[in-house]
Amino acid sequence: MTERKTVCCYLGLGSNMGDPRANLEKAIELLNDTEGIEVTAVAPFYRTAPVGYTEQDYFINTVAEINTSLSPLQLLEKMQQIENKLGRVRVIRWGPRTVDLDLLLYGDEKIAGPDLEVPHPRMHQRAFVMVPLADLNPQLVIQGEQAADLARRLAGEQEIIRV
Ligand code: ADP
Ligand code: MG
Repeated sequence: MTERKTVCCYLGLGSNMGDPRANLEKAIELLNDTEGIEVTAVAPFYRTAPVGYTEQDYFINTVAEINTSLSPLQLLEKMQQIENKLGRVRVIRWGPRTVDLDLLLYGDEKIAGPDLEVPHPRMHQRAFVMVPLADLNPQLVIQGEQAADLARRLAGEQEIIRV
């Protein structure tokens, strides 16, 4: 096999349906089973309060680090296939998905397309993204600020508990 260049990416994972931890573990397994994706690290899992619709269940969130030979849009497509596959376990048609997968960072690329924005435009506002991301790579600079500093500040403002 010829060597292909791989890119280090970070993916945000969240679930608040069924068994959220099992859903995230399954999603990570499916990611790692995907050709062109190797999962290299997974942050601890965190329990976070839902924002907005507060009557829904709490979320479990984490961040995965991967190496991939896929293009950004190919990667997004694989992520959506995994969301759909896990979502189909549920009976409710059009109902909420079991797992939400977000592409946070694709190397240091900036992408502003109709179907994909990277870095994820709201990641620096969310404790449930920044706290696990900073666990994996505290030195990353997001919007001019170190991930560890951002994470510390957001954790003081939003409910997030390591589980
Ligand atoms: P959210 O993740 O904001 O709760 P959805 O998962 O339903 O909402 O949003 C999915 C849509 O967001 C997809 O159609 C996808 O094209 C678009 N999108 C844009 N940027 C990203 C990104 N960085 N990661 C994942 N989806 C993205
Ligand atoms: Mg999403």
